[in-house]
Amino acid sequence: MGSTTKMHSDVDSLKICILGAGMGGLACALGLARAGFKDITVYELASNLGFVGAGIQMAPNMARILDRFGVWDAIFQEAVVLNETEVRQGATDEQMAHIDLKYIKETYGYPHTVGHRATLAGELYEGCKRESKNVKFTFATTCEDVKFGSKPSFTAVPRNGEPYEVQCDILLGADGVKSNTRVAMLRELNVEAEVKDTAQAAYRIMLTREQLSNDPELLALLDADKVIRWIGERRHIIAYPVSRKQIYNISTTQPDVNFAAAPSATYTTKGSKKAMLEVYGDYCPMIHRMLDLVPEGEVCEWKLRVHAPLPTWVHGSVGLVGDACHPTLPHMAQGAAQAIEDAGVLSVVLAHLPSGATPQDINKALKIYEEVRKERAEALVELAAQSGRNMHLGEGEAKKERDRQFAALKAGGGKGPVPDKWADADVQKMVYGVDCMKIAEELATKELNGH
Ligand SMILES: Cc1cc2nc3c(=O)[nH]c(=O)nc-3n(C[C@H](O)[C@H](O)[C@H](O)COP(=O)(O)OP(=O)(O)OC[C@H]3O[C@@H](n4cnc5c(N)ncnc54)[C@H](O)[C@@H]3O)c2cc1C
Repeated sequence: MGSTTKMHSDVDSLKICILGAGMGGLACALGLARAGFKDITVYELASNLGFVGAGIQMAPNMARILDRFGVWDAIFQEAVVLNETEVRQGATDEQMAHIDLKYIKETYGYPHTVGHRATLAGELYEGCKRESKNVKFTFATTCEDVKFGSKPSFTAVPRNGEPYEVQCDILLGADGVKSNTRVAMLRELNVEAEVKDTAQAAYRIMLTREQLSNDPELLALLDADKVIRWIGERRHIIAYPVSRKQIYNISTTQPDVNFAAAPSATYTTKGSKKAMLEVYGDYCPMIHRMLDLVPEGEVCEWKLRVHAPLPTWVHGSVGLVGDACHPTLPHMAQGAAQAIEDAGVLSVVLAHLPSGATPQDINKALKIYEEVRKERAEALVELAAQSGRNMHLGEGEAKKERDRQFAALKAGGGKGPVPDKWADADVQKMVYGVDCMKIAEELATKELNGH
């Protein structure tokens, strides 16, 4: 599968350009190189990987693909295995649900883990460097003006140099939620799919063991194998230990006030500590102590943006990847996992291209990618939105019903439907139990190889 597919000898020299070196772009480059492609270039507007200091949940569907790409062992070494999850009342710290996650490894082959984004991105990049004969990186270069002829092209604009045009056989737009590739594709197709304002924003915080060292209650959180979500009306906090339990990673979601009036180009801002403490003012004293440990001037707030489902992810020999085509609220912790699934599926379908592949063959392969991925990714985007709505309910019948479900879950020893969708066993089966690369392999074998 993927890397084991026998590729036709002339297919491996197809010129592939990947726009964006986020999780999606890096995973595509690595997956395609391991599948046998020899002419891959990644263009990235930043001058280096420059990843946000934040944690990331690495679900089994992500781990399975990273393992096939040969980088999971290194990532796992630094990861923390989550054995349990809890939902608690933000205001009182009272436990509303406790769910065991230990069964995940036996059922899906990989445990549910959490890690540092820099490690995940760094190992994907290291993997690409091991394939350096076949994967090149061009940093500090913005890609614009994507064109969709029989050979796609774009303008590369180096930060310190003259713009130049690049033509290739296959172009993958992994350029994130603000994707120029998506904008160009929709313009070409004369359709609209606007960026949607979720009205939500997030603080992302990392506290070191040293910062927590004087607070036994907070240290206990760092030492547990647990992800906890504290919920309240219109906002919640999710937190877990990363980096071999040396760092406590905290991510919040609250109504967006700071970006509401800002131009849509703005995605992060230095937040005010006072404002952050006020937003969570009615949360319990332990949460106050935790948030109060963030040094003044180091509060960073993120705008959470998504857009309406696109009519297509593929046009000609151009395909969209990751947040460029399925940006999501983070409440299912699946955004990067889904970008990596995209990469897994692309590495399979493109490896099946026939000898002498024409633009029509490439389009057919990309359409199989879309067939395997689009409905699934969009279902998860919707689930994340729904889960956020469940978590953020204010007083009323819907909240009473949700809390009845939490109570039933508690009475049932953690078995039964979970309003926090990512922790629901049936949802986990649909997310972790599906092997997209295997499905892609079957479809591509049937539809591209004719056997
Ligand atoms: C608060 C929060 C928590 C999250 N938690 C999780 C989690 O626990 N688990 C999980 O799986 N996912 C999580 N996600 C989602 C995940 O971070 C994203 O879905 C994922 O990083 C998307 O990767 P990407 O490569 O598609 O896009 P990006 O990471 O945005 O990468 C796009 C890249 O393209 C570059 N680029 C953009 N435009 C251009 C251009 N014109 N030319 C050249 N380069 C360009 C950018 O600089 C960037 O490097 C979370 C997201 C948020 C906001």
